[in-house]
Amino acid sequence: MAVVTSAKRRVYMRQFYLANKERLLAMSRVYHAAHREARNVQSRLYHASHKERIYAQIKEWQAAHSEVVRGYYAAYHERIHERRIEASRRYSQEHRQEHHAYYLKNKERYFAHRDKRRARLAAVLHTLTAQQWEAIKSAYDFRCAYCGEKPERLTKDHVLPVMLGGGTTAENIVPACWHCNSSKRQYLTMKPMKPEELRKVVAHSPSVLAP
Ligand SMILES: [Zn+2]
Repeated sequence: MAVVTSAKRRVYMRQFYLANKERLLAMSRVYHAAHREARNVQSRLYHASHKERIYAQIKEWQAAHSEVVRGYYAAYHERIHERRIEASRRYSQEHRQEHHAYYLKNKERYFAHRDKRRARLAAVLHTLTAQQWEAIKSAYDFRCAYCGEKPERLTKDHVLPVMLGGGTTAENIVPACWHCNSSKRQYLTMKPMKPEELRKVVAHSPSVLAP
């Protein structure tokens, strides 16, 4: 049989599909349910053998849509904000005694760590004045430079970490919420936004507009 894909045939197939839509969809559902395992195996294999390419494509897309990605993360953080605080409060209450025991056991190490941090801080510049800090926060509309949220309290985040010689100077400090300032950010390699970039992001994603 010759393969005919004339306009007429396409119209006929379209009509056939519409007339039998429910039945065809039901058949397709049955087929997919019966072959789910095989399909999963296949897609896992495909993913494994094309890993590099898939990740490269994802990265490329994210780079080209950085505002969308940022907005998505900001919205996500806002969505889970309350829940996260509540969970962390509950967790620390439930584990208070363990934590205290841990603290007693590791007191020396804890103080050594603190002293080291103090020494590192002493070795870098500290020129940031209270007025400069207020001006920086105001330039950022009192938002976190990373996620755009307006937390109750903004912390001073060193863009170049103190550990790498970054000082507490107007050039090296941005406002950050507690979560973004925590060590997690360093693994995510998030870069702070400039005030004007942040304003654009806020304008594009109303989800971070919450006070
Ligand atoms: Zn933040």
